[in-house]
Amino acid sequence: MPVQRVIFTGQVMDSLLSYSRMAYPNEGILLMRGKSKKGVVDVTSVVVPPAAVHAHAYSSFNWYMLPIDSSYLGVAHSHPSGNFSPSHEDLLHSMGKIMVIMGYPYSSYLQVGVYDHNGRSVPFEVKG
Ligand SMILES: [Zn+2]
Repeated sequence: MPVQRVIFTGQVMDSLLSYSRMAYPNEGILLMRGKSKKGVVDVTSVVVPPAAVHAHAYSSFNWYMLPIDSSYLGVAHSHPSGNFSPSHEDLLHSMGKIMVIMGYPYSSYLQVGVYDHNGRSVPFEVKG
C-alpha cells in the first residue's frame, strides 16, 4: 500500500527541528519509529543513530548497522543548504517507508519535506 499521509506528533516534529539546529552546519540524521496502517504512517518517536553512523554523510548511512525491526519507518535528515527536496544521492539511498528532510533554518514544519520510498512528496500533518 503506497504511503498517502504521514502524521507526526508535535514532540516528534520539535525533535526533528531542534536536532537539525544542533547539528548545523552539519547534516543531522535521526531514525523514525512508529506504525503504518492502510497508507497512513504515524511517526511517534525518533532515535539518534550511533555516533559512528551520524558522523558520516547521509549517503554513507548504513541501515544494517542498526537493530532494525518493523517499527522503524525510515530516516530523517537535515539539509543545511535550506533546500528540503531529496537530492539524487538521497533517492539512491532511500531506506524504509518514508524519508523526511528538514531544511535550514529549521524554524518550523514549513521547512520540512516528507517523501515516500520513491521520492514522491507525501502530505503530512502535525498533531498534538
Ligand atoms: Zn539529503
